[in-house]
Amino acid sequence: MIKKLLIANRGEICCRIINTAKRMGIQTVALYSDADSKALHVKMADEAIHIGPSPSNQSYLRIDKVIAAAIATGADAIHPGYGFLSENAGFAKACADNNIIFVGPPIQAIEAMGSKSAAKHIMQQANVPLVPGYHGADQSAALIKQHADDMGYPVLLKAAAGGGGKGMRQVWSADEFDDALAAAKREAMSSFNDDIMLVEKYLTQPRHVEVQVFCDHHGNGVHIFERDCSVQRRHQKVIEEAPAFKMSSTLRAAMGDAALKAAKAIDYVGAGTVEFLLDTDGKFYFMEMNTRLQVEHPVSEMISGQDLVEWQLRIAANETLPKTQDELCINGHAFEARIYAEDPDNEFLPATGTLHLLETPQESAHVRIDSGVVQGDEVSVYYDPMIAKLIVWDTDRERALARLSQSLGEYRIDGVTTNIPFLRRLIDTQAFKDEEIDTSFIEKHHEKIFQKNSVDSKNQLLNLAIYLSLSEQPITSVNNQDSQSPWGLICDWRANDIYVNNYFILLDNQEHEVKVQRIQVDNQTSTPHGTFMIDLHGQSYRCEGQIAGNRLLATVNGHSESVTINQIEHEYAVFHSHGMAKFTHVQKDLGVNDDSDQHGAFVAPMNGTIVALLVEPNQSVKKGQTLMIMEAMKMEHAIKATQDGLVSEFFYQAGELVDGGAALLDFIANEETSS
Ligand code: ADP
Repeated sequence: MIKKLLIANRGEICCRIINTAKRMGIQTVALYSDADSKALHVKMADEAIHIGPSPSNQSYLRIDKVIAAAIATGADAIHPGYGFLSENAGFAKACADNNIIFVGPPIQAIEAMGSKSAAKHIMQQANVPLVPGYHGADQSAALIKQHADDMGYPVLLKAAAGGGGKGMRQVWSADEFDDALAAAKREAMSSFNDDIMLVEKYLTQPRHVEVQVFCDHHGNGVHIFERDCSVQRRHQKVIEEAPAFKMSSTLRAAMGDAALKAAKAIDYVGAGTVEFLLDTDGKFYFMEMNTRLQVEHPVSEMISGQDLVEWQLRIAANETLPKTQDELCINGHAFEARIYAEDPDNEFLPATGTLHLLETPQESAHVRIDSGVVQGDEVSVYYDPMIAKLIVWDTDRERALARLSQSLGEYRIDGVTTNIPFLRRLIDTQAFKDEEIDTSFIEKHHEKIFQKNSVDSKNQLLNLAIYLSLSEQPITSVNNQDSQSPWGLICDWRANDIYVNNYFILLDNQEHEVKVQRIQVDNQTSTPHGTFMIDLHGQSYRCEGQIAGNRLLATVNGHSESVTINQIEHEYAVFHSHGMAKFTHVQKDLGVNDDSDQHGAFVAPMNGTIVALLVEPNQSVKKGQTLMIMEAMKMEHAIKATQDGLVSEFFYQAGELVDGGAALLDFIANEETSS
């Protein structure tokens, strides 16, 4: 029996593990870096230990500090969560050396699966099916390319030490090969300090189906069914579900058996996930085994009724598996949506900032939220930008999907750009409903998933104008600019007097003029309300509105809608039933910032390092051509020409550090060069 558990992690997974430990009567110890001193996981644990500065290599990744914290607090076990030290064999060994239980598999199992190449050798011997490819020790570029040429394109380059889609490149033809190999190696080196590569046949329409396995110290093994994680961007999972759709019981049994065969081949103990690619012909191939709890484990919990962290803790305490295979069954259907601080419209670039507004759907038997942040917290540059996992369950896929759509609509975040609108458009596509899904789903349905709805924008402009009219007080009448005059200020409603206010509102860099005639307004109560005539784009609308807290009940030409409005200085986010619209209220007298600076597109999106300059100064470039590559948050970002022209000057050289927001280069567009 474990008495005190240290969680060597942070954020949502740390909170999630603490919840189970508490329920089992186990004391908990959290760790925190400088950036996390006020984090939720610290508040939830019984004890918390500071382990260093914010960068994870100086805190959460420091084996010596984590072990010292466990010794200092008398913890008898460490749960590593996912990421950080969870698949670090050296860490598991340090735990063993200090008589601390590592809640994870034996050291040799982590080592065996730590390298994708080594794992493939073992699985080949255990007769687990593999994708054709080369995973040898000879790393000469010419040899790897020869294998790719022999297999035929497309191929996929992968870092042997890889994870999270990093160090991975698709190669569609022989002439792209050398550049792709160099880029993949660079990314692998910076992420894993190891650039050993393997190459595989790239399957063009596979699904990602993974099997959850558990083994105990007494030779027992079961699988807790499968998850489909095919919806991915940059090879990273976006939406996961369990059970996998279009799955026959024969295929389920075959994949479950193969997964357990893989686990047995390395004498596995604990929770593990065996990832397969499932091809259109029903054949499946081993990809890799993750020797830890997965981010998406909650969907398996929802359909099996089991607490996988409890299973892990009981197995670590040497108990036998809580259930046999026959005792496990699938009940209903579950989805998980990963809510990230990122900008899907800008190549999913991670976003940072303060969570000014964070409203979540109500949790229930159908809706679960795993999160490590609360309103007011920062999403910093230091860690993974995942804000929360939204998990829903219902009796079948269709019902669960309806719940997911509804819950995403009730998730309101402002202050940080998130992927919520993108997720919503994605799951609302007909193809997603129809289970026409493979790993290229997002690219295939790009247009639908990224399109914006202009009808909604017009309605939300009207709603915002109503809100501004009701909440701005006192308001100066444009008919009477004399602030000394008793008619210059409107402090309460005046029946039959008509005042007009013009608002200038920016949406997607376009300015809209909205003319509001106040017919009747009472904004001196806690629920301001009023009636208006609003002119927008040459049309008149009769509108009514009432504000309660951050909710506005608006009626436009007899059609009522309730929206949530959040204001950050001059920016307003309007959350409505189909998503969110973001506006800037332009205050003309304060001066409009319409600085159409060419640097705009060439600004470092966040703190990072310049990797390479790809063009010479003053060399002509075409729209879309990559000018420079920078690396931020361990991902490479291409800075591209927004139009034809030339770079007159680079402000940074390869290897230099840049701050987020810094101008990177001086670009002269072609009209300017010719004039
Ligand atoms: P990582 O460890 O970085 O997550 P994986 O090997 O698990 O990398 O692969 C991540 C994703 O990349 C898979 O889920 C799948 O979508 C895609 N992928 C991997 N190998 C192949 C392949 N041979 N053909 C097509 N897609 C692949």
